[in-house]
Amino acid sequence: MYDMIVVGARCAGAVTAMLLARAGRKVLLLDRAPFPSDTVSTHYVHQPGLAHLHRWGLLDELLATGCPTLTRVSLSVSDAHLTGPAPSLGAVAGGCAPRRHILDHILVRAAVRAGAEFRPRTTVLDLHWQDGVVAGIVHGTRHGTQHVERAPLVIGADGRHSTVARLARAPYLHQDPELTRTYYAYWSGLANQGLRFYLTRGAGTACMPTHDGLTVIPVAFSRTGHPIANSDRQRTYLGTLGQTSLDLERQLADARQEGPLFCCSDQPNFFRRAHGPGWALVGDAAHTKDPCWARGITDAFTQASMLADSLDMPLADHRRVGKALTDYARRLVHDFTPAYEGTLFAARMDNDRRSRELADNQHDPAYVQRCFRGFAGIPEPAPAQA
Ligand SMILES: Cc1cc2nc3c(=O)[nH]c(=O)nc-3n(C[C@H](O)[C@H](O)[C@H](O)COP(=O)(O)OP(=O)(O)OC[C@H]3O[C@@H](n4cnc5c(N)ncnc54)[C@H](O)[C@@H]3O)c2cc1C
Repeated sequence: MYDMIVVGARCAGAVTAMLLARAGRKVLLLDRAPFPSDTVSTHYVHQPGLAHLHRWGLLDELLATGCPTLTRVSLSVSDAHLTGPAPSLGAVAGGCAPRRHILDHILVRAAVRAGAEFRPRTTVLDLHWQDGVVAGIVHGTRHGTQHVERAPLVIGADGRHSTVARLARAPYLHQDPELTRTYYAYWSGLANQGLRFYLTRGAGTACMPTHDGLTVIPVAFSRTGHPIANSDRQRTYLGTLGQTSLDLERQLADARQEGPLFCCSDQPNFFRRAHGPGWALVGDAAHTKDPCWARGITDAFTQASMLADSLDMPLADHRRVGKALTDYARRLVHDFTPAYEGTLFAARMDNDRRSRELADNQHDPAYVQRCFRGFAGIPEPAPAQA
Protein backbone atom coordinates (compact mmCIF):
# COMPACT_ATOMS: atom_id res chain seq x y z
CA MET A 1 0.00 0.00 0.00
CA TYR A 2 1.35 3.42 -1.04
CA ASP A 3 0.27 6.96 -0.09
CA MET A 4 0.24 8.02 -3.74
CA ILE A 5 0.73 6.37 -7.12
CA VAL A 6 2.01 8.69 -9.85
CA VAL A 7 1.43 7.53 -13.43
CA GLY A 8 3.92 9.08 -15.90
CA ALA A 9 7.52 9.94 -14.94
CA ARG A 10 8.54 12.98 -16.98
CA CYS A 11 8.40 16.72 -16.14
CA ALA A 12 5.10 16.56 -14.28
CA GLY A 13 5.18 13.07 -12.77
CA ALA A 14 8.83 12.76 -11.71
CA VAL A 15 8.72 16.19 -10.02
CA THR A 16 5.40 15.45 -8.28
CA ALA A 17 6.82 12.13 -7.02
CA MET A 18 10.05 13.83 -5.89
CA LEU A 19 8.25 16.58 -3.95
CA LEU A 20 5.80 14.16 -2.30
CA ALA A 21 8.60 11.75 -1.37
CA ARG A 22 10.62 14.64 0.06
CA ALA A 23 7.56 15.44 2.20
CA GLY A 24 7.76 11.91 3.63
CA ARG A 25 5.08 10.21 1.48
CA LYS A 26 5.38 6.64 0.29
CA VAL A 27 5.22 7.10 -3.49
CA LEU A 28 5.11 4.65 -6.41
CA LEU A 29 6.13 6.22 -9.76
CA LEU A 30 5.32 4.30 -12.96
CA ASP A 31 5.99 4.88 -16.64
CA ARG A 32 5.42 2.67 -19.65
CA ALA A 33 8.59 4.06 -21.30
CA PRO A 34 12.13 2.88 -20.65
CA PHE A 35 14.38 5.50 -19.02
CA PRO A 36 16.39 7.43 -20.02
CA SER A 37 14.44 8.05 -23.22
CA ASP A 38 13.33 10.87 -25.49
CA THR A 39 9.81 11.97 -26.26
CA VAL A 40 8.45 13.89 -29.26
CA SER A 41 8.93 17.44 -28.02
CA THR A 42 11.39 20.26 -28.36
CA HIS A 43 12.69 21.28 -24.95
CA TYR A 44 13.15 24.97 -24.25
CA VAL A 45 12.76 25.70 -20.52
CA HIS A 46 11.96 29.28 -19.52
CA GLN A 47 13.62 31.07 -16.61
CA PRO A 48 10.76 30.29 -14.13
CA GLY A 49 11.19 26.58 -14.95
CA LEU A 50 14.93 26.78 -14.28
CA ALA A 51 14.21 28.73 -11.08
CA HIS A 52 12.12 25.74 -9.91
CA LEU A 53 15.06 23.42 -10.66
CA HIS A 54 17.36 25.78 -8.72
CA ARG A 55 14.99 25.73 -5.71
CA TRP A 56 14.87 21.92 -5.82
CA GLY A 57 18.71 21.70 -5.95
CA LEU A 58 18.75 20.28 -9.52
CA LEU A 59 19.88 23.20 -11.70
CA ASP A 60 23.62 22.68 -11.16
CA GLU A 61 23.21 18.99 -12.00
CA LEU A 62 21.48 19.95 -15.25
CA LEU A 63 24.04 22.61 -16.22
CA ALA A 64 26.87 20.16 -15.44
CA THR A 65 25.61 18.01 -18.34
CA GLY A 66 26.89 20.74 -20.70
CA CYS A 67 23.57 22.32 -21.63
CA PRO A 68 24.27 25.98 -22.51
CA THR A 69 22.34 28.79 -20.80
CA LEU A 70 20.88 31.05 -23.50
CA THR A 71 21.68 34.55 -22.32
CA ARG A 72 20.67 36.43 -25.48
CA VAL A 73 17.32 36.55 -27.26
CA SER A 74 16.42 37.84 -30.73
CA LEU A 75 13.11 38.06 -32.53
CA SER A 76 12.62 38.96 -36.20
CA VAL A 77 9.19 39.65 -37.71
CA SER A 78 9.10 41.44 -41.09
CA ASP A 79 10.99 44.74 -40.52
CA ALA A 80 11.19 44.32 -36.76
CA HIS A 81 14.40 42.92 -35.26
CA LEU A 82 14.44 42.88 -31.47
CA THR A 83 17.56 41.71 -29.73
CA GLY A 84 18.97 41.94 -26.21
CA PRO A 85 20.06 40.09 -23.10
CA ALA A 86 17.72 37.36 -21.85
CA PRO A 87 15.87 38.60 -18.76
CA SER A 88 17.29 37.05 -15.59
CA LEU A 89 15.27 35.66 -12.69
CA GLY A 90 17.11 35.38 -9.38
CA ALA A 91 20.08 33.05 -9.92
CA VAL A 92 18.91 32.15 -13.45
CA ALA A 93 20.63 34.12 -16.22
CA GLY A 94 18.51 32.91 -19.16
CA GLY A 95 16.53 29.95 -20.48
CA CYS A 96 18.00 26.67 -21.69
CA ALA A 97 17.00 23.76 -23.91
CA PRO A 98 18.08 20.45 -22.32
CA ARG A 99 17.46 17.20 -24.24
CA ARG A 100 14.52 15.36 -22.71
CA HIS A 101 16.41 12.10 -22.22
CA ILE A 102 18.79 14.07 -19.99
CA LEU A 103 16.34 16.39 -18.19
CA ASP A 104 13.69 13.73 -17.51
CA HIS A 105 16.31 11.28 -16.25
CA ILE A 106 17.67 13.87 -13.79
CA LEU A 107 14.11 14.35 -12.48
CA VAL A 108 13.47 10.61 -12.13
CA ARG A 109 16.78 10.11 -10.32
CA ALA A 110 15.89 12.97 -7.94
CA ALA A 111 12.52 11.29 -7.22
CA VAL A 112 14.28 7.99 -6.47
CA ARG A 113 16.88 9.74 -4.26
CA ALA A 114 13.97 11.28 -2.33
CA GLY A 115 12.61 7.77 -1.66
CA ALA A 116 10.04 7.19 -4.45
CA GLU A 117 9.88 3.68 -5.88
CA PHE A 118 10.24 3.86 -9.68
CA ARG A 119 9.10 1.24 -12.18
CA PRO A 120 9.83 1.97 -15.86
CA ARG A 121 8.30 -0.13 -18.69
CA THR A 122 5.13 -0.46 -16.62
CA THR A 123 1.87 0.36 -18.39
CA VAL A 124 -1.20 1.33 -16.37
CA LEU A 125 -4.17 -0.45 -17.95
CA ASP A 126 -7.00 0.29 -15.55
CA LEU A 127 -7.95 1.98 -12.29
CA HIS A 128 -8.82 0.02 -9.17
CA TRP A 129 -12.11 1.29 -7.66
CA GLN A 130 -13.58 0.87 -4.20
CA ASP A 131 -17.10 2.18 -3.43
CA GLY A 132 -16.97 4.59 -6.39
CA VAL A 133 -13.60 6.02 -5.36
CA VAL A 134 -10.28 5.40 -7.16
CA ALA A 135 -8.16 3.31 -4.80
CA GLY A 136 -5.24 2.18 -6.97
CA ILE A 137 -4.16 1.12 -10.46
CA VAL A 138 -3.95 -2.07 -12.48
CA HIS A 139 -0.79 -2.52 -14.51
CA GLY A 140 0.46 -5.16 -16.89
CA THR A 141 3.46 -7.29 -15.92
CA ARG A 142 6.27 -8.60 -18.12
CA HIS A 143 4.62 -12.03 -17.98
CA GLY A 144 1.38 -10.77 -19.51
CA THR A 145 -0.57 -10.93 -16.24
CA GLN A 146 -2.13 -7.97 -14.42
CA HIS A 147 -1.28 -6.64 -11.01
CA VAL A 148 -3.09 -4.21 -8.65
CA GLU A 149 -1.26 -1.54 -6.60
CA ARG A 150 -3.28 0.34 -3.98
CA ALA A 151 -3.13 3.95 -2.78
CA PRO A 152 -5.71 6.48 -1.55
CA LEU A 153 -4.59 8.90 -4.29
CA VAL A 154 -3.70 8.15 -7.94
CA ILE A 155 -2.06 11.05 -9.80
CA GLY A 156 -2.26 11.05 -13.59
CA ALA A 157 0.88 12.71 -14.99
CA ASP A 158 0.55 10.65 -18.13
CA GLY A 159 0.42 13.32 -20.80
CA ARG A 160 -2.22 14.81 -23.08
CA HIS A 161 -3.85 11.45 -23.90
CA SER A 162 -3.91 10.53 -20.20
CA THR A 163 -5.11 7.01 -19.43
CA VAL A 164 -5.93 8.07 -15.85
CA ALA A 165 -8.11 10.96 -17.13
CA ARG A 166 -9.94 8.64 -19.55
CA LEU A 167 -10.56 5.91 -16.98
CA ALA A 168 -11.58 8.38 -14.27
CA ARG A 169 -13.86 10.05 -16.84
CA ALA A 170 -12.33 13.46 -16.16
CA PRO A 171 -14.41 15.91 -18.20
CA TYR A 172 -12.96 18.59 -20.47
CA LEU A 173 -13.71 22.00 -18.96
CA HIS A 174 -12.55 23.86 -22.04
CA GLN A 175 -11.31 22.84 -25.51
CA ASP A 176 -10.09 24.79 -28.53
CA PRO A 177 -9.24 23.56 -32.04
CA GLU A 178 -5.67 22.58 -32.88
CA LEU A 179 -3.89 25.51 -34.51
CA THR A 180 -0.40 24.43 -35.58
CA ARG A 181 1.79 21.48 -36.49
CA THR A 182 5.50 21.31 -35.65
CA TYR A 183 8.47 19.83 -37.53
CA TYR A 184 11.92 19.87 -35.93
CA ALA A 185 15.45 18.54 -36.36
CA TYR A 186 18.90 18.84 -34.78
CA TRP A 187 21.70 20.75 -36.52
CA SER A 188 25.48 20.89 -36.05
CA GLY A 189 27.79 23.67 -37.20
CA LEU A 190 25.74 26.65 -35.95
CA ALA A 191 27.30 29.20 -33.57
CA ASN A 192 25.48 29.71 -30.26
CA GLN A 193 23.68 33.04 -30.74
CA GLY A 194 21.25 32.45 -27.89
CA LEU A 195 17.54 31.90 -28.44
CA ARG A 196 16.39 33.15 -31.85
CA PHE A 197 12.92 33.46 -33.39
CA TYR A 198 11.96 34.21 -36.96
CA LEU A 199 8.27 34.73 -37.61
CA THR A 200 6.45 35.13 -40.92
CA ARG A 201 2.77 34.99 -41.79
CA GLY A 202 1.54 31.47 -41.03
CA ALA A 203 4.87 30.04 -39.79
CA GLY A 204 7.56 30.53 -37.19
CA THR A 205 11.06 29.16 -36.59
CA ALA A 206 13.25 29.07 -33.49
CA CYS A 207 16.93 28.20 -32.97
CA MET A 208 17.70 26.71 -29.56
CA PRO A 209 21.28 25.58 -28.84
CA THR A 210 21.28 22.38 -26.78
CA HIS A 211 23.65 19.60 -25.64
CA ASP A 212 26.65 18.36 -27.68
CA GLY A 213 27.03 21.55 -29.73
CA LEU A 214 23.72 20.87 -31.50
CA THR A 215 20.88 23.33 -32.16
CA VAL A 216 17.28 22.18 -32.23
CA ILE A 217 15.33 24.05 -34.92
CA PRO A 218 11.54 23.67 -34.93
CA VAL A 219 9.22 25.14 -37.54
CA ALA A 220 5.60 25.69 -36.47
CA PHE A 221 3.07 25.92 -39.31
CA SER A 222 -0.39 27.39 -38.94
CA ARG A 223 -2.99 24.79 -39.95
CA THR A 224 -5.03 27.41 -41.74
CA GLY A 225 -2.63 30.18 -42.81
CA HIS A 226 0.11 27.91 -44.19
CA PRO A 227 -1.37 25.04 -46.18
CA ILE A 228 1.28 22.34 -46.61
CA ALA A 229 0.74 21.52 -50.27
CA ASN A 230 3.94 19.55 -50.52
CA SER A 231 3.72 16.10 -48.97
CA ASP A 232 7.53 15.92 -48.83
CA ARG A 233 7.92 17.02 -45.22
CA GLN A 234 11.70 17.40 -45.34
CA ARG A 235 11.42 19.75 -48.33
CA THR A 236 8.62 21.71 -46.68
CA TYR A 237 10.72 22.06 -43.51
CA LEU A 238 13.86 23.23 -45.33
CA GLY A 239 11.86 25.50 -47.63
CA THR A 240 10.17 27.22 -44.69
CA LEU A 241 13.46 27.62 -42.81
CA GLY A 242 14.87 29.39 -45.86
CA GLN A 243 11.81 31.64 -46.20
CA THR A 244 11.76 32.84 -42.61
CA SER A 245 15.15 34.59 -42.74
CA LEU A 246 17.89 35.17 -45.32
CA ASP A 247 20.36 35.31 -42.45
CA LEU A 248 19.30 31.87 -41.18
CA GLU A 249 19.29 30.46 -44.71
CA ARG A 250 22.93 31.59 -45.13
CA GLN A 251 23.96 30.04 -41.80
CA LEU A 252 22.25 26.73 -42.62
CA ALA A 253 24.22 26.46 -45.85
CA ASP A 254 27.32 25.81 -43.72
CA ALA A 255 25.47 23.65 -41.13
CA ARG A 256 24.33 20.04 -41.21
CA GLN A 257 21.07 18.37 -40.17
CA GLU A 258 21.92 15.52 -37.81
CA GLY A 259 19.39 12.72 -37.77
CA PRO A 260 15.77 12.56 -38.87
CA LEU A 261 13.05 15.17 -39.06
CA PHE A 262 10.47 14.82 -36.25
CA CYS A 263 6.89 15.77 -37.18
CA CYS A 264 4.04 16.38 -34.75
CA SER A 265 0.45 17.13 -35.71
CA ASP A 266 -1.05 16.15 -32.36
CA GLN A 267 -1.16 19.50 -30.54
CA PRO A 268 -4.51 19.89 -28.75
CA ASN A 269 -5.60 22.78 -26.52
CA PHE A 270 -7.68 22.08 -23.41
CA PHE A 271 -8.26 22.13 -19.67
CA ARG A 272 -9.58 18.97 -18.00
CA ARG A 273 -11.10 18.83 -14.53
CA ALA A 274 -7.95 18.01 -12.52
CA HIS A 275 -9.47 16.21 -9.55
CA GLY A 276 -12.13 13.68 -8.56
CA PRO A 277 -12.62 11.06 -5.83
CA GLY A 278 -9.24 9.38 -5.28
CA TRP A 279 -7.54 10.92 -8.32
CA ALA A 280 -5.82 14.09 -9.53
CA LEU A 281 -4.18 15.20 -12.79
CA VAL A 282 -1.02 17.26 -13.34
CA GLY A 283 0.98 18.51 -16.34
CA ASP A 284 -0.34 17.89 -19.86
CA ALA A 285 -2.91 15.44 -18.48
CA ALA A 286 -4.65 18.37 -16.77
CA HIS A 287 -3.95 21.14 -19.24
CA THR A 288 -2.33 21.08 -22.69
CA LYS A 289 -1.66 24.00 -25.00
CA ASP A 290 0.01 24.61 -28.33
CA PRO A 291 3.82 24.31 -28.00
CA CYS A 292 4.57 27.60 -29.84
CA TRP A 293 5.36 29.43 -26.57
CA ALA A 294 7.31 26.45 -25.18
CA ARG A 295 5.53 26.61 -21.84
CA GLY A 296 4.63 22.93 -21.20
CA ILE A 297 7.71 21.90 -19.22
CA THR A 298 7.84 25.06 -17.11
CA ASP A 299 4.09 24.82 -16.43
CA ALA A 300 4.37 21.13 -15.51
CA PHE A 301 6.97 22.08 -12.86
CA THR A 302 4.71 24.81 -11.46
CA GLN A 303 1.67 22.52 -11.36
CA ALA A 304 3.62 19.69 -9.71
CA SER A 305 4.73 22.15 -7.05
CA MET A 306 1.14 23.44 -6.57
CA LEU A 307 -0.20 19.89 -6.25
CA ALA A 308 2.46 18.69 -3.80
CA ASP A 309 2.09 21.84 -1.66
CA SER A 310 -1.68 21.43 -1.56
CA LEU A 311 -1.34 17.95 0.01
CA ASP A 312 0.27 19.15 3.23
CA MET A 313 -2.10 17.25 5.59
CA PRO A 314 -2.79 13.71 6.89
CA LEU A 315 -4.21 11.66 4.00
CA ALA A 316 -6.72 10.05 6.37
CA ASP A 317 -8.44 13.44 6.70
CA HIS A 318 -10.58 12.86 3.59
CA ARG A 319 -12.54 16.08 3.96
CA ARG A 320 -9.41 18.29 4.04
CA VAL A 321 -7.72 16.34 1.24
CA GLY A 322 -10.85 16.66 -0.94
CA LYS A 323 -11.03 20.41 -0.32
CA ALA A 324 -7.30 20.88 -0.97
CA LEU A 325 -7.54 19.03 -4.29
CA THR A 326 -10.66 20.94 -5.31
CA ASP A 327 -8.80 24.20 -4.62
CA TYR A 328 -5.77 22.92 -6.59
CA ALA A 329 -7.98 22.07 -9.59
CA ARG A 330 -9.68 25.50 -9.48
CA ARG A 331 -6.38 27.35 -9.12
CA LEU A 332 -4.90 25.47 -12.03
CA VAL A 333 -7.60 26.81 -14.38
CA HIS A 334 -7.44 30.30 -12.88
CA ASP A 335 -3.63 30.65 -12.93
CA PHE A 336 -3.00 29.12 -16.36
CA THR A 337 -5.85 30.72 -18.33
CA PRO A 338 -4.02 34.01 -19.20
CA ALA A 339 -0.97 32.17 -20.65
CA TYR A 340 -3.32 29.74 -22.40
CA GLU A 341 -5.08 32.62 -24.15
CA GLY A 342 -1.76 34.29 -25.02
CA THR A 343 -0.51 31.00 -26.47
CA LEU A 344 -3.62 30.55 -28.63
CA PHE A 345 -3.21 34.12 -29.90
CA ALA A 346 0.43 33.42 -30.85
CA ALA A 347 -0.48 30.03 -32.36
CA ARG A 348 -2.83 31.70 -34.85
CA MET A 349 0.45 32.88 -36.45
CA ASP A 350 -1.05 36.14 -37.57
CA ASN A 351 2.49 37.41 -37.21
CA ASP A 352 2.25 40.51 -39.43
CA ARG A 353 -0.31 42.03 -37.09
CA ARG A 354 2.14 43.00 -34.36
CA SER A 355 5.14 43.67 -36.60
CA ARG A 356 4.41 47.44 -36.97
CA GLU A 357 4.30 47.93 -33.18
CA LEU A 358 7.46 45.81 -32.78
CA ALA A 359 9.30 47.74 -35.55
CA ASP A 360 8.35 51.11 -33.99
CA ASN A 361 9.75 50.05 -30.61
CA GLN A 362 12.67 47.81 -31.57
CA HIS A 363 15.30 50.34 -30.45
CA ASP A 364 13.71 50.89 -27.02
CA PRO A 365 15.56 48.52 -24.62
CA ALA A 366 12.79 48.79 -21.97
CA TYR A 367 10.16 47.72 -24.53
CA VAL A 368 12.37 44.85 -25.76
CA GLN A 369 12.91 43.60 -22.19
CA ARG A 370 9.15 43.78 -21.53
CA CYS A 371 8.53 41.62 -24.63
CA PHE A 372 11.17 39.07 -23.61
CA ARG A 373 9.91 38.95 -20.00
CA GLY A 374 6.35 38.41 -21.26
CA PHE A 375 7.50 35.52 -23.47
CA ALA A 376 9.45 33.94 -20.58
CA GLY A 377 6.51 34.31 -18.17
CA ILE A 378 8.52 36.53 -15.79
CA PRO A 379 6.29 39.01 -13.96
CA GLU A 380 7.05 42.72 -14.40
CA PRO A 381 9.09 44.12 -11.48
CA ALA A 382 7.00 46.20 -9.07
CA PRO A 383 7.44 49.97 -9.68
CA ALA A 384 9.96 51.58 -7.28
CA GLN A 385 8.35 53.35 -4.29
CA ALA A 386 8.59 57.16 -4.46
C1 LIG B 1 6.23 19.22 -30.91
C2 LIG B 1 6.26 19.67 -29.48
C3 LIG B 1 7.22 20.58 -29.07
C4 LIG B 1 7.23 21.01 -27.74
N1 LIG B 1 8.20 21.90 -27.34
C5 LIG B 1 8.24 22.32 -26.06
C6 LIG B 1 9.28 23.21 -25.62
O1 LIG B 1 10.18 23.62 -26.35
N2 LIG B 1 9.24 23.59 -24.30
C7 LIG B 1 8.26 23.19 -23.44
O2 LIG B 1 8.24 23.60 -22.27
N3 LIG B 1 7.29 22.33 -23.84
C8 LIG B 1 7.26 21.89 -25.11
N4 LIG B 1 6.30 21.00 -25.50
C9 LIG B 1 5.30 20.57 -24.50
C10 LIG B 1 5.91 19.53 -23.58
O3 LIG B 1 6.44 18.45 -24.34
C11 LIG B 1 4.85 18.98 -22.61
O4 LIG B 1 4.10 20.06 -22.08
C12 LIG B 1 5.49 18.21 -21.47
O5 LIG B 1 6.19 17.10 -21.97
C13 LIG B 1 4.43 17.75 -20.48
O6 LIG B 1 5.03 16.90 -19.54
P1 LIG B 1 4.17 15.77 -18.81
O7 LIG B 1 5.09 15.17 -17.81
O8 LIG B 1 2.88 16.35 -18.35
O9 LIG B 1 3.77 14.73 -19.94
P2 LIG B 1 4.67 13.86 -20.93
O10 LIG B 1 6.00 14.48 -21.16
O11 LIG B 1 3.79 13.59 -22.11
O12 LIG B 1 4.92 12.49 -20.13
C14 LIG B 1 3.88 11.58 -19.91
C15 LIG B 1 4.49 10.23 -19.55
O13 LIG B 1 3.41 9.35 -19.20
C16 LIG B 1 3.71 8.05 -19.67
N5 LIG B 1 2.44 7.33 -19.83
C17 LIG B 1 1.41 7.63 -20.64
N6 LIG B 1 0.42 6.74 -20.51
C18 LIG B 1 0.84 5.82 -19.60
C19 LIG B 1 0.28 4.64 -19.04
N7 LIG B 1 -0.95 4.21 -19.40
N8 LIG B 1 1.00 3.93 -18.14
C20 LIG B 1 2.24 4.35 -17.77
N9 LIG B 1 2.82 5.47 -18.28
C21 LIG B 1 2.13 6.20 -19.16
C22 LIG B 1 4.42 8.29 -21.00
O14 LIG B 1 5.24 7.18 -21.34
C23 LIG B 1 5.24 9.56 -20.70
O15 LIG B 1 6.57 9.25 -20.32
C24 LIG B 1 6.26 20.55 -26.81
C25 LIG B 1 5.30 19.63 -27.23
C26 LIG B 1 5.30 19.18 -28.54
C27 LIG B 1 4.25 18.19 -28.96
